[in-house]
This record gives sequence, C-alpha cells and structure tokens, in this order.
Amino acid sequence: MLYVSTRGHPDRKHFCEILLEGLAPDGGLYLPERYPQVDAATLAKWRGLPYADLAFEILSLYIDDIPAEDLRAICRKTYTAEVFGTREIVPLKRLEDGVFLQALSNGPTLAFKDMAMQLLGNLFEYELARRGEELNILGATSGDTGSAAKYAMRGKKGVRVFMTSPHGRMSPFQQAQMFSLQDANIHNLAIEGVFDECQDIVKAVSNDLEFKRKYRIGTVNSINWARLVAQVVYYFAGYFQATRPHPNPPPEGEGVLPQVSFAVPSGNFGNICAGHVARSMGLPIARLVAATNENDVLDEFFRTGVYRVRASKDTYETSSPSMDISKASNFERFVFDLLGRDGAKVRYLFAEELAVKGRFDLSADMGRARTDYGFTSGKSIHADRLATIRDTFERFGITIDTHTADGLKVAREQRQPGTPMIVLETALPIKFAATIVEALGHEPERPAKFAGIEALPKRVTVLPADVARVKQFIAAHCA
Ligand SMILES: *Cc1c(COP(=O)(O)O)cnc(C)c1O
Repeated sequence: MLYVSTRGHPDRKHFCEILLEGLAPDGGLYLPERYPQVDAATLAKWRGLPYADLAFEILSLYIDDIPAEDLRAICRKTYTAEVFGTREIVPLKRLEDGVFLQALSNGPTLAFKDMAMQLLGNLFEYELARRGEELNILGATSGDTGSAAKYAMRGKKGVRVFMTSPHGRMSPFQQAQMFSLQDANIHNLAIEGVFDECQDIVKAVSNDLEFKRKYRIGTVNSINWARLVAQVVYYFAGYFQATRPHPNPPPEGEGVLPQVSFAVPSGNFGNICAGHVARSMGLPIARLVAATNENDVLDEFFRTGVYRVRASKDTYETSSPSMDISKASNFERFVFDLLGRDGAKVRYLFAEELAVKGRFDLSADMGRARTDYGFTSGKSIHADRLATIRDTFERFGITIDTHTADGLKVAREQRQPGTPMIVLETALPIKFAATIVEALGHEPERPAKFAGIEALPKRVTVLPADVARVKQFIAAHCA
C-alpha cells in the first residue's frame, strides 16, 4: 500500500516513511491510495478475534513494510487487558434500547487518544531502532492528546516530546496529568494563546523543511495517518459487538448485512475520519454522526456545506474543552474523498481560498456527503451537556464525561429505528470533574492510581504564541 498527499504531490510513500513524517511536503495530509475492501466473508472471519488480532488484520492491509510477525507482536504488546482494563479492550455498554456506549477511555490517560497513541509509541520505538535514528516529536494539544502522547512515549528509546498546549485552558486534572511527568525526554510548553495557535505553530515548524530535517521533527497529532488507522479498528470491534452473527449466512453477494450508526464527539475530525475510513472499507455503517459543542464549525459544514473556520478570539472555552477547535485539521482528508480525490482542487481550497477568505463553499456536494458517505451532524451546548449527564446518571446509574454527553445528546436526535446507535465514549468523567459536580452535585469516581495528582510538582515552560521562540526552545533542548 502506498500513500498520497491530499494536495496532489506526485510522491508515493510507504507506511514507515509517513509514520515518522507527519504532513506531506506540500502541506497536505497522507491517505492510502485506495481503501482495501472487506466483504461479508472477511467480516465473518474477523468477528470473534481478540482485539489485538483484529488490529493486526486491519493494520496489515495498510502496512507492507513491517514483517507480519513483527506487526502482530506490536499489536499484541499494545492492546492488553493490563493497559486497557478489560479483555474486550473497547466493551459496549447498553443504555436505552438500541443505544450503546463504546468505552474507549480506559487506557493510561482515560481518554480515547490512548487507543492510537499506545500503538504509535510502540511503532515509533520499533522503526527508530530499526533505522538507528532519533525523533523529536512536536505536538499541539487541547488536553488529551498531550498526555496520551507523553504516557505513550515516556521511557521510549530515541524519542523526545515537545508538547504545546494553550496556557491555562485545560482542567486541573488534565494539567496535572500532563505536567507532572518528570521524564527527561518530555517537554511541556504552555503557549499564551488558544489551541488553534498551538496547532498553527506546529504546522509552521513542520513546514520549515530545513528546520524539520535538522532537528528530526515528527508529529503525533491526529494528522498522523498511523493514529487514524489505529482508530479504524474500534469501529469494527463496536460493529461486531452491536450486531449478532447471521444465523443463516446468505450466499456471497446476496442478503443485507446488519448496519449500525456511530455518534462521535468531534473536534479535529480525527476520530470520525477513522469511521469514514472504516465505512469506505465496506463496514456496514448507516450514519456517521458528528457531534460538536458550541464550537460548531463541523456541524455548520454538514448542515450547510460551508466550511467557515473561526478566528482564535471566536473560539469558545467550553465544558467539553477537547472539542474547542475551530479549524478541524483532519477535515481535509474527507474533503479529498468527497471531491473525488482531486488534489489540485483540495490544494486550492485549503491553501488559497481558506487562507484568503477563511471559508469555502461545498454546498453543491453536500447531498453526497450524506447519501454516499453517511454523514450527519448536530450540536450540543453546556445546558444540553448537563441535562444529558444528569439524565444518564438518573436512568442508568452511569456517569459520562462532558464530551461523551455531547455525543449522546446528538445521537438521540439522529437515531433511526432498527439501527443500533453506538456513541463513542471519548473520556472518563474524572477528567472534567467540575462540570460533573455542576450536573450531579457530587464528584465523579476517581480511579485509585490518580489519587492526589493535582498536588504533584509540575514541569512546564510558558512561552508566547511565537514560532521563533518555540524553535529556539527545541534547538536548545535537542543536544
Ligand atoms: C480529542 C478528543 C475529542 C475530539 O476528537 P477528534 O479526533 O479531535 O475529533 C473528543 N473528546 C475527547 C475527550 C477528546 O480527547
């Protein structure tokens, strides 16, 4: 399998090249040149596989430059009950009839980012050792990516992490999780700005090819294809759990496989883009429901066809902060597919029209986003979040986090009778305790290993939102 840039660059690359690279040289994102197709027979074969082996089957369709036995060992080392809390790794919990929560947040940092990041840590260590190289990871986080990256990379040979985050905008629990790591290879940079400014800094540094080469800069942001493909796996795992095997499998090519829908709390469009990839491979997904918070750039797009990024000053601080994003970095991947993989057109839209006007209009293509790609959307605001958290606790005795609440609220609006709706649980409530207290009047449960982390000493450097200053810091710490 070879990978292409969404902006039409002529190079074709293998998985391990783009693993360490991040953005393509033309500023585009990598995608496989085609989506491998799975049929009913393959699905039947995969149903019932342990999660690690399912991951191997899916990843091996996309990775042709790691020997199969090594890739299988990496998957088995990554997806263990010890790290993810259960044998199923991503178990479903049933709420009301036909509505499920899929638990993706029982990894080391209690957010779904661990699902991909733990794999990435092991892939990086494997590939860097094989090449005898080092890598400096530069990332931007609004909270969960940063801690997931650090917990995945700490102790890994050949890797340093430089993680930018918006100064003072994360919950106390998130800050404690991120800044309390004392490992020498982990650097926390609190940027005086919002998340999008952090993301712009990362892009600017990555676009400086000379600097990037000299300091061996890589990324772990959700634009990294390896993260995206790791997330494809749990869509399959969720599908298998929500549907029963056919008692009387129809002959090949006949009969209709049961369908499910997924509701995905969305910010950078990484999680739901993995759903788009799973659906494009042939997984029977009826609807992919993008749920946003008050920062509704994606909901606006799927309702109107107009993609209108917001300025930093128009990005709200909300009680689902990991979705406080007004420019969805993975969105370009979907647009590439929606426009028939026309790289020149994607480059024009993102590098020119968006840069100049701050918006582009695809309303003529929106019908197909729904009919051919299954996308719908909705929005959830603070009051909805509180009501959904309260209602779920009262009816089912389950406490959900604020992002999952956004997903569940929108899922209920978008349900179709007869089609199971799986809501991706993207974090555990303890990460956003203040809002849980506001909704329920009591603290959420805290896993024992996180007792008292807010009081631990913090290791962090505050910097202005200035590309040059961040480059300076990296250069000084890459000795
Ligand atoms: C990152 C994150 C999201 C948004 O996921 P995207 O891939 O950026 O769309 C939602 N909820 C939580 C808890 C997150 O950490």
